[in-house]
Amino acid sequence: MNMMKTRKAIPILRSLLVAVGLCMGTLQASAQEVPTFTRQDTLRGSITPERAWWDLTYYHLNITVNPADSSIRGVNTIQYKVIGPQQRMQIDLQPPMRLEKVVQNGVALPVQQDGNAYFVQLPEQQTGTTNSVEVYYGGKPQVSVNPPWSGGLTWRHDSNGKPFAASSCQGDGASLWWPCKDHMYDEPDSMQISVTVPKGLMDVSNGRLRSVERHPDGSNTFNWFVRNPINNYGVNVNIADYVHFGEQYQGEKGPLDCDYYVLRENLEKAKKQFRDVPRMLKAFEHWFGPYPFYEDSYKLVEVPYLGMEHQSSVTYGNRYRNGYLGRDLSGSGWGNKFDFIIIHESGHEWFANNITYQDIADMWIHESFTAYSEALFVDYHYGKKAGADYVIGTRANIQNDRPIIGYYSVNNSGSGDMYYKGANMLHTLRQLVPDDEKWRSILRGLNKDFYHQTVTTAQIETYLSEHIGRNLTPVFDQYLRDVRIPRLEYRNEGGKLQYRWANTIATFDLPVKVRMDGKEKWLEPTTAWQQLPGASRKTTLETDRNFLVSTAPLKAR
Ligand SMILES: [Zn+2]
Repeated sequence: MNMMKTRKAIPILRSLLVAVGLCMGTLQASAQEVPTFTRQDTLRGSITPERAWWDLTYYHLNITVNPADSSIRGVNTIQYKVIGPQQRMQIDLQPPMRLEKVVQNGVALPVQQDGNAYFVQLPEQQTGTTNSVEVYYGGKPQVSVNPPWSGGLTWRHDSNGKPFAASSCQGDGASLWWPCKDHMYDEPDSMQISVTVPKGLMDVSNGRLRSVERHPDGSNTFNWFVRNPINNYGVNVNIADYVHFGEQYQGEKGPLDCDYYVLRENLEKAKKQFRDVPRMLKAFEHWFGPYPFYEDSYKLVEVPYLGMEHQSSVTYGNRYRNGYLGRDLSGSGWGNKFDFIIIHESGHEWFANNITYQDIADMWIHESFTAYSEALFVDYHYGKKAGADYVIGTRANIQNDRPIIGYYSVNNSGSGDMYYKGANMLHTLRQLVPDDEKWRSILRGLNKDFYHQTVTTAQIETYLSEHIGRNLTPVFDQYLRDVRIPRLEYRNEGGKLQYRWANTIATFDLPVKVRMDGKEKWLEPTTAWQQLPGASRKTTLETDRNFLVSTAPLKAR
């Protein structure tokens, strides 16, 4: 997901992302209002017993979408492996969609509804066996009021009056338009998405198009197949009178098919604007390793909202302009050198679709690395200083309003600062790594060692600490679990320079590069005063601009 477009929008974002998230063992944030969560938040956000005993292996979503009355109807076949002795299965589907019946081996099963969750009573299940259920459902799904930030279907028309519709549902959840296991910790290993649409329209979904079935009434079924694990909010339908063009990119793993689906009226503009795709692949394969879904191809699909990181079906609505709808979020000038949506949403193929958070409280794993990928794109094509100018420029968007990490097990995400404060935290960590090859190997290593996995913040924090070679827990506690920006305070005491970290948690100990009387120097401050000999009354300290910290000279006592 991309960041909200205007500052005024942040309060809306706050309300959209639900109340403030505070992590366990709160720090500075304890002053924040503690939100209350509902039973539905827990049913949605936690790994309930009715979810824990089965391992999702495959989905076949087979639906008919009718733009004329904004309805969706069909069946989702859910295949799973039994990993524990249980017979009650939780399946999620949000009203106004209705679950009609659940069938296993031809037998309709008892189902009990509890708000957005349904509990299916299954016959005895043998541990180790693989079974499936068919879940029949239908209705008119929630319409998004502000896509992609609020979830739902978006129903529009193109300039020829033809339907132009799409789904987007991060946060609100995939269960607002199809029945699924709506928790991020468990992904299917593969999926088929079969979508029937009226005559003259096409559906573009994730993965590769396997076949098109034509029906006597002129409608067509588009069968898409995804050969890789996919997160549930990444599954999407995009329906329009699309035209197609494409290219093959010679990447690290060989030829990569790149397919583009746009509105007929935008074909020529798209051919020009989508030239950013090979540039993106070059930069991101350099920094992060091979595109994670060669088997499923890379796609850009035009939609009636800004854009979203749907796996192997990245959606685009940036109106064929560079920047973020023409605006440079960094103010550095570099943001207008590329199409923000193509770069940002494609960066998510590595951080969100390849490496996926298990709990939305850790959404920084998606957004911090991806906001940072914008700077790495600039770094690759325009040089290291340009990349630093870009990421430092985006600090203007930082709010320090709430912690970046949200509440666990209640479907709660943290502050919008997960974008540019998170990106600047990563840029700060880069300064601790001796050379760029090492930093690059850490970013590539993440994508290799957590390939196609769902992860926790602890796994990522530990990985970075181990590979950077320093216990970074205090640094992560500061930037992800507190709202304050560290301040390096210093004062001259009788020819000695004293310095310390202030405005931080007690354990904060980030090493920092400074200029002291014009000479570069590394300091290892803590929250306790330390002395540095050889300072004159006029000695000044200036922290390196690449660190997300501030500096404050104090009067001598
Ligand atoms: Zn994003």
